Amino acid sequence: MIDRPEAQIDTIVALASGRPPAAIAVIRLSGSRAAETVRALCGRLPPPRRASLARFRDPRSSEVIDEGLALYLPGPGSPTGEDVAEFHVHGGRAVVAAMLDALTALPGVRLAESGEFTRRAFFAGRMDLAAVEGLADLVAADTDAQRRQALAQASGVLGARVALWRSQILEARALAEASLDFADEDDVAADALEQARAGAAALREEIAAALDKSRGGERLREGFRVVVLGPPNAGKSSLVNALARREVAIVTAEAGTTRDLIEVHLDLGGFPAIVTDTAGLREAAGLVEAEGIRRARARAEDADLVLWLSPADAPTPPPADLSEAPLQVVWTKADLSARSAPFSISTHTGAGLAELVAFISHRAAACLQGGEAAVLVRARHREAAEVALGALERALVPGVSPELVAEDLRLASEALGRIVGAVGVEDVLGQIFSAFCIGK
Ligand code: GDP
Repeated sequence: MIDRPEAQIDTIVALASGRPPAAIAVIRLSGSRAAETVRALCGRLPPPRRASLARFRDPRSSEVIDEGLALYLPGPGSPTGEDVAEFHVHGGRAVVAAMLDALTALPGVRLAESGEFTRRAFFAGRMDLAAVEGLADLVAADTDAQRRQALAQASGVLGARVALWRSQILEARALAEASLDFADEDDVAADALEQARAGAAALREEIAAALDKSRGGERLREGFRVVVLGPPNAGKSSLVNALARREVAIVTAEAGTTRDLIEVHLDLGGFPAIVTDTAGLREAAGLVEAEGIRRARARAEDADLVLWLSPADAPTPPPADLSEAPLQVVWTKADLSARSAPFSISTHTGAGLAELVAFISHRAAACLQGGEAAVLVRARHREAAEVALGALERALVPGVSPELVAEDLRLASEALGRIVGAVGVEDVLGQIFSAFCIGK
C-alpha cells in the first residue's frame, strides 16, 4: 500500500450535502481531532454510531448556532478509517457558514479538498482504487443502468476479481519458480512448468473474456455515442433539437466543449446515449470550419452509430470514407416528398421520430447490455488488463525459459495491481480524486 501523505494529519471538515439553501445540511469531519471537535461544539460526545439531538455552539462565543443531530463514528470502522463525525443542521446558507467558520477556528481543523474524504478511505485501505472510481461514477450516474454498474464497482466487484486473478498468478509463479529450484530433476521441473503454463492459459482466457465485455462497460459509463452527420441544411440541428425536446428522453442538452458540436444526453430506458450534432460545420470556408469538420469526422470515427441525414428534397448519399462507420441513412424532411423510406423523418410533422428513437434505443441496448456484467469499465482498467494479457501471452510462447515465465507472470500481476491501486498508481491518483466534489 502507498504511504499516507503528511497532509492527512489534519482533521478535515466539509459540507457533504448539496448547495444550500436546503431542508437539511450535512457537515462531515474526519481526523484525529473529530471527538474533541464534537465536544467543543456540542458540549459532549454522543454515544458512537447513534444519532443524538444536539445544540451546536460556537466555542469562541458560546452562542448557539443551530440545533440538529450529531453523529460520532470512531475509526477504524468508519467510512474513512479515521474518527468521523457528522452534524445534521438546518440547510440555510448562514447556518452552514457559521458552522464551518466555528469548526475551522478550532486548532488542527481545516476545510477539506475535493475528494479528500474518499482519498483517506483509500489510504486507510477501506476502499481500493476501482471502488473509489465506482463511487465517483455513482455520484455522476444519470441513468438506472449506470447506477447499477457504478454501485457494483463501488462495492468492490472489480477489486475482488483482481484479487482472484492475482492469487491465480501467484500460484502459477510459485510453480514456475519451483521448476527452477528442481532444474536438476528434469521430470519434476517439466511438470511444474507445465502446470504453471496451464494456470497462465486459464487466466488468459478469463482476462480476454473480461476485455471482450469492457467496451460495453465503458460505453455504459460514458453513454452510447450517436453522431449526426449530413450536408448543410439536411436538418441535423432540427433533429437534435427535436430529440432534446422529447422530455421523457432528455437528461441534459448543453453546448459541447468545442464551439461547433452540440451534445444532447438521452436516457433511453436506462441506457445513456449522447447525440452529437455537427451542424456547426458548414461551408468549409475558413480554418475554423475546416477544424470543425476534422472534429466531426474524428467524432464519427469513434461513434457507436452515425446517422447520415439525407434530405428528401435533395437526396445526398453518404461519402465513401464513412463506409466503415456504423452508418444509418435517415431521410429527412419527409413532409416534402411523397416517397417513403425505412427511416424517414420529419421534424416539422414529427413523423418517424418515435421510430428513430426506438431504433437508437435498440442499438444502444444491444451495445450496452453486456456492459452491466462488465467489470473492466474504464480505459484505465482495460489498458492494465491488456498489459497483463500481453505478459501472459509471452509466458505461454512455447520454449520460453522458466525464468522468463516467472518474470512475465510477475509483470502480469503488477499490471493488474494498478487497477486496484496496490502498485504504482501515484500518477493517476490526483486525477481520480479531483473528479469528486468537496465533502466526498
Ligand atoms: P442542418 O444544417 O443540417 O443543421 O439543418 P437545419 O436543422 O438547420 O435545417 C435546415 C432547414 O431545413 C431549416 O430551414 C429547417 O427549418 C428545415 N427543416 C428541418 N427539418 C425539416 C423537416 O422535417 N421538414 C421541412 N420541410 N423542413 C425542415
